[in-house]
Amino acid sequence: MEELAIFGGKPVRKEKIYYGRQCVEQDDVDAVVATLTSPLITCGPRVQEMEKRLCEVTGAKYAVGVSNGTAALHLAAMAAGFGPGDEVIVSSITFAASANCVRYCGATPVFADIENDTYNIDPECIKKLITPRTKGVVAVDFTGQAVKLDEIRAICKEHGLILIEDAAHAIGTKYKGQPVGSLADMTCFSFHPVKTVTCGEGGAITTNDEKLYRHLMRLRTHGITRDMSEMANPSDALWYNEQVELGFNYRLTDFQAAMLCSQLKKLQKFSDRRKEITAIYDKVFSEMPEIQVQREIPESDTTRHLYVLRLHLEKLTCNRRQFFDALYAENVCPQVHYLPVYWHSYYEKLGYQKGLCPNAEAYYESSMSIPLYYSLSDEEVQDVIHAVKKVIAYYRR
Ligand SMILES: *Cc1c(COP(=O)(O)O)cnc(C)c1O
Repeated sequence: MEELAIFGGKPVRKEKIYYGRQCVEQDDVDAVVATLTSPLITCGPRVQEMEKRLCEVTGAKYAVGVSNGTAALHLAAMAAGFGPGDEVIVSSITFAASANCVRYCGATPVFADIENDTYNIDPECIKKLITPRTKGVVAVDFTGQAVKLDEIRAICKEHGLILIEDAAHAIGTKYKGQPVGSLADMTCFSFHPVKTVTCGEGGAITTNDEKLYRHLMRLRTHGITRDMSEMANPSDALWYNEQVELGFNYRLTDFQAAMLCSQLKKLQKFSDRRKEITAIYDKVFSEMPEIQVQREIPESDTTRHLYVLRLHLEKLTCNRRQFFDALYAENVCPQVHYLPVYWHSYYEKLGYQKGLCPNAEAYYESSMSIPLYYSLSDEEVQDVIHAVKKVIAYYRR
């Protein structure tokens, strides 16, 4: 048996590789540079072009580009009308922002458990959590896999709930052949560097509803409008604009938008490579009894953002922490996605208690994400597999 690097053996890799990494190429650089010297570097034509391209990619009627994915969620929650006294059902295994957007509006997140095999929000749990105060659902396409949209949309329709899909992981994913982005009332995207396409910081909301679209556009710029039909005191003066509600400056710049347009042109190749690597990992790991491979529902054609390695800890002599540290020492650096949201001390202080979502908690205790990104080479993929096998061999019961 090979000696683990953590105990002084030779690491599988000389250089560290991390769970995610952006791919920025010369065409992205050129797009940004060309925009920097153009007359408008914010609120210019590139933002509109980015929104048009996002509509093409997602099949949505409307897209609103914003400064980041959290801003997208915040505006979606505002446009949904969430407020004090309202309850909004949120996935328990996600980045905190999926629940924070509900808090920004003064509403109460209600955490729903995940399914043990897909790690996505369980529609049955959503049903059980509905009360007369429930106003909406924030469903997260975790790792890029689409949630069970048919089931969730039916629940939302029956109870008059607004569905916000947090698709920060899921650009490029299709559900029953239709791209994510046109399937919920509003869909939120993030273009942070770790996501499948990036512009540094950026985000967007897509929708098919014109009223929501107009509201989101206004909220993005302070709640100010130039549209007379939206004003309390209309005027046709050329300079006249009116703030009709409290909004934000959540705009993004034209050079970010130009970078995103350039990245979106490459979504297909990014997506293909992520699928290819996922298939290689799935094949190897599905043959190892110590590992549970994430189940993919047949409805989702997934562009995978994260590859989760879930351990059957009962078949190992280590815990998740020891496994993580051992893999890290091999220079295959994992990350954990995510702490159940209500375990964060902020939420704990609000009164949420451990034990709320048993599947989410068991998932958290046994999982970590391993490297998955477009530019990961075949050799690096094999090194990741080697390192995982090496650590498993050492700790096998
Ligand atoms: C990244 C992410 C966000 C937030 O996006 P930012 O652009 O970082 O603000 C929200 N939800 C999920 C699930 C994410 O992964």
